Amino acid sequence: MTYRERRLRKAERLRGWADKRDLKNLGWANSWRETPAIVDECKRKDHKTQNVDVGPPNRGIENVVTCEECGYVYRYDCSD
Ligand SMILES: [Zn+2]
Repeated sequence: MTYRERRLRKAERLRGWADKRDLKNLGWANSWRETPAIVDECKRKDHKTQNVDVGPPNRGIENVVTCEECGYVYRYDCSD
């Protein structure tokens, strides 16, 4: 399995997990005018978040970030 395939499988698992757990979806971080309180609080508590790079090659780099403890998921595009 290539690195990219492994990465995509991990992302799929994470998405499936997020759907099952009904996580709070914060959308795209790039469109936030300010960081949501839940994310600030999470950083303050120094939680272990999962950050998976799922970027399809032809549309920039997409990352999915989740925190199991807070129960949120958001994406960001680091191509800009
Ligand atoms: Zn958290």
